[in-house]
Amino acid sequence: MRLTGVHLLLTYECNFECDHCFVWGSPRQQGTMSPEQIGEILEQSKQLGTVEWVYFEGGEPFLDHSKLVEAVQRANRMGFRVGIVSNAFWATTVEEAMIHLEPLAGRVEDLSVSSDLYHADERSTPETRNAREAAQQLEIPVDFISIERPEVTDPTAVIGQIPAGESGVMHRGRAAAKLSGCIAKTPWDRFTTCPFEDLREPGRVHVDPLGNVHICQGISLGNVFHTPLEQICADYIPEDHPITGPLLEGGPAALVRRFEAPHSDSYADACHLCYEARRALRDRFPEILTPDQVYGEADTR
Ligand code: SF4
Repeated sequence: MRLTGVHLLLTYECNFECDHCFVWGSPRQQGTMSPEQIGEILEQSKQLGTVEWVYFEGGEPFLDHSKLVEAVQRANRMGFRVGIVSNAFWATTVEEAMIHLEPLAGRVEDLSVSSDLYHADERSTPETRNAREAAQQLEIPVDFISIERPEVTDPTAVIGQIPAGESGVMHRGRAAAKLSGCIAKTPWDRFTTCPFEDLREPGRVHVDPLGNVHICQGISLGNVFHTPLEQICADYIPEDHPITGPLLEGGPAALVRRFEAPHSDSYADACHLCYEARRALRDRFPEILTPDQVYGEADTR
């Protein structure tokens, strides 16, 4: 597996609690990276020799602004290109937005702002508009991530784990629990491919505050606090992995069949079946189907 991007989930905590969140982010969610852990993950990423981009996201990475700034500076010094994903809660005025973004100017090459009806009552909030104006003044490239309501969208519009532009809901994480009731269901055995992830060569992985390396949220390839990322990448044989193997063979339906996972007759989409099957299999693969946060078991309110 050759990685060109590593996405650090600085925290599972978020000021919002959106229905579509893959990782069950909320103000009560637990798990935050220390500066030392951020440094260690950056060092391990550098060791790979192939990583060009580092993203800082969450949860909400601006909850600890000074830690974020320090992480961006460190990543810059190490030669990485840097992106950030944020909901822009901090941009209450253009002046506030300038204060938050100024230390990042010239260092961040992609500021992705979540802006949709899950985050607020309006598609474009004053905060997201303020963030855009300040970013443009500071010449920080900025774009918007917008997730449509599940009943009005084509989910195949999603690109990777950071959807570009307006995208559909993928029914995993809190979205599976909160939104899958909104749309028509499809028989479970029709979900014979993973539609969104390249499970052989993902290009990028997400590393969470507990050290888990996610190829898709809740499918861990290893833990960087126990095994170097380089080793995790070298050891990953997609077809032999207990979870990605069946997914590659025949999608979430094959995962269900391989392990005789309990299932319903129909699901909202492939991710819905995949997520529910994985939830049912957690006791069998506790080190892979982890952590509790991503399965809504650390914060189920
Ligand atoms: S089908 Fe499973 S592995 Fe593929 S994107 Fe959906 S949740 Fe992730």
